[in-house]
Amino acid sequence: MAGIYVHVPFCMDKCTYCDFASYPKEIGKAEVYFGCLYREIKERAAMLSGKSFDTVYIGGGTPSCVDAKYISGTMKRIRECFPLPNGAEITVEINPGTLDERKLDVYRAAGINRFSLGLQSADDGMLRRLNRIHTLDDYLRCARLLEGENFNADALIGLFGQTAADLERTLSVIIGSGASHISMYALRPEEGTPIYSDYLNGDLPDEDTVADLYDFGVDFMRNRGFLRYEVSNFARDGKRSRHNMNYWKRGEYIGFGAAAASHIDNRRFINTDVIDEYVSCILNGYFAEASSELVEGDEIRSEYIMLTLRTEDGIDAEDYKKTFGTPFEVQFRRELKNNADYLDLSGGRIRIKPQYMFVQNSIICDFLS
Ligand code: SF4
Repeated sequence: MAGIYVHVPFCMDKCTYCDFASYPKEIGKAEVYFGCLYREIKERAAMLSGKSFDTVYIGGGTPSCVDAKYISGTMKRIRECFPLPNGAEITVEINPGTLDERKLDVYRAAGINRFSLGLQSADDGMLRRLNRIHTLDDYLRCARLLEGENFNADALIGLFGQTAADLERTLSVIIGSGASHISMYALRPEEGTPIYSDYLNGDLPDEDTVADLYDFGVDFMRNRGFLRYEVSNFARDGKRSRHNMNYWKRGEYIGFGAAAASHIDNRRFINTDVIDEYVSCILNGYFAEASSELVEGDEIRSEYIMLTLRTEDGIDAEDYKKTFGTPFEVQFRRELKNNADYLDLSGGRIRIKPQYMFVQNSIICDFLS
């Protein structure tokens, strides 16, 4: 089964660390944007009739900052064009400063059954410093509205002066609020974002401190029933994100909207991240692809290894052999020997040992062509 991603490129304001395709000043274009999005969904569907989809993820940006009618309109159009099965996982991202009861009712009526809240930190001073628009109280109010629902909350590590006690507070708030899933991401200061100069100034924690925070967070969550299933993702039993698991299994997905990425029939393509360009393409009868690449041969193998080794399940040796024709241990005899200390080869799987998950990139690199 494949996934559907929808990108909403609007936010109320720009966070200091954000380099995503989100444009607070362009929120006035929501009407024309969603009109084009509905059209793109319909036109793509005609080319995807042989595929089945069972997850939808509406992300951004901040989907909850636009009128809820656009989210329900998007779901209506998706259902008209793609027959989603009963039990499809349908997620919407929410900024805690932008949800109210009415909006939530519209989301529920549209069949949304999973929510993802961007808390990031339980410290209001830190939230202000990151230029987040919400407060801890906003988050707690949102979580109360979502009582009994299946929801994720995001936590950032690597923040200014962040200590294990700070992280413990954030994770305790999330767990106490009823979340079933936690995404704990390390802040990556990207060039061109305001926080990059703080990074250059040495105002952010160094790599070792971030790695210690990560290890602390992993232990803290595990002891409270949140098990890691991917390097940054932790869930209670049965609450893994099916949509994201599909990405890490190198599954297929179609992306709609500006900056949305797709992977269909071994072709990876991505829409322009410029809203006006996206709108203009769709209104003129074109898809808004800015780049497209056919993934072939060894690249497929590299992607498969890179994505599956990020997960706690790792590589299924049988599946690898079936997919690529050669046993993994034969293909990578030398690399397996070089990385023996970091890998667990038990149970017919190739996994990165838990204590090395945070530095998995340097291990995975050895196995890429
Ligand atoms: S809410 Fe998310 S997408 Fe919007 S500016 Fe902040 S980090 Fe970026």
